[in-house]
Amino acid sequence: MTLAWWLVLILASGLISTLVMLSFERRKAAEEDPARQRYYAGLRAMISGDSESAFQRFKESVLEDSQNVDAYLRIGDLLRDRGQAQKALSIHQDLASRGGLSQEELLSIRRAITEDQLALGQTDDAVRGLTELAEEREGQAWALARLHRLCLEQGDYEEAYKLRQKLARLGDVFDPRIAALYLTLAGVAASDAGQHRRGRVLIRDALKQHTESPAAHYYLGILYERDRRPEDAVRAWKALLDHTPRLAGLVFPPLEKVLFDMGQYSEIAGIYQQVLAADSVNTDALLGLARFSDKNGDHQAALGHLARTIEIDPGNLVARQLLVQIHRQEGHEDEAWQAALGFFTWLPSNTGAFRCRNCRHESVEPRWFCPQCRRFDSFDMGSRKSAAAVSPVDATA
Ligand SMILES: [Zn+2]
Repeated sequence: MTLAWWLVLILASGLISTLVMLSFERRKAAEEDPARQRYYAGLRAMISGDSESAFQRFKESVLEDSQNVDAYLRIGDLLRDRGQAQKALSIHQDLASRGGLSQEELLSIRRAITEDQLALGQTDDAVRGLTELAEEREGQAWALARLHRLCLEQGDYEEAYKLRQKLARLGDVFDPRIAALYLTLAGVAASDAGQHRRGRVLIRDALKQHTESPAAHYYLGILYERDRRPEDAVRAWKALLDHTPRLAGLVFPPLEKVLFDMGQYSEIAGIYQQVLAADSVNTDALLGLARFSDKNGDHQAALGHLARTIEIDPGNLVARQLLVQIHRQEGHEDEAWQAALGFFTWLPSNTGAFRCRNCRHESVEPRWFCPQCRRFDSFDMGSRKSAAAVSPVDATA
């Protein structure tokens, strides 16, 4: 090796060690950079849910480093969370007008601005921003999901349905049964606004998504009834009974009323029997038969249906009440007394109406969409309880 080569080698190794030392120094500097330190402390505070100290740390960090876009972004978000959306919006808008932002930063800022606008009730502006984002490739899924949530909040189920479809094309799961619920609710909303025909079209679309949809059949009947088409209403409810006999109790009340108004009330007994043929423990059908027999003066048959009802569902107070009544009418004093005792034994249980599994919201009407927590299909609609599910308190009846 020549001297020149030795020289090159020595110089090169010197250069490398200098570079290594330099990068080490720089890293050390970054670690000690107080603005960075405060920013990281802010992030840590956010992760542990301490938004107050996060807010303080971010504020301290931007005082020393006004180039920290993310810290500013988060200060704005925290202000919005505290109810100071106007301040948040001006911070985010200032950020957006800065030069030299990365695409990712700009996207985050635009999202934050729409949230500020929504918090301020500037819905039109927010929707415009979200619609723009939804048309771009980056941030599309987020914008669609945000618009979807907004539509549900505003009760615009048809638009929400379209947005869910778009999200499904991006890979989201959209169960046809849930799709049918969106369309059903859209149909009901259209009918509520006076457009009964449009409402029915939407509900038929729902049935194309999910033929058995109890919600769709139930509301199709309601919409026909609103439009004074009782025969069609009866047909819709019978379709529900065919597909999901266990939910028969949902349509019996309107069905009984419509058949009565049409002068065809006697038909109802056959319907109860049909339901029982498909679902032998359907206490709603049994109770219907009991009432029907009672009205026709056949107390013996009524008592038989009631006994079977109580065998299946000991906590069924409606059955027990009717039992007391019929025994009294028959002059069975002892039995009436026993039945009354049974009624009171079971009084605390089995009260209330339909309840949301998710948020416990209660409703006297059947629901397939929770107005409180905005979940679909979260209500337990089976009014029948199997005997095994009820607590084994001794029922004296
Ligand atoms: Zn709920």
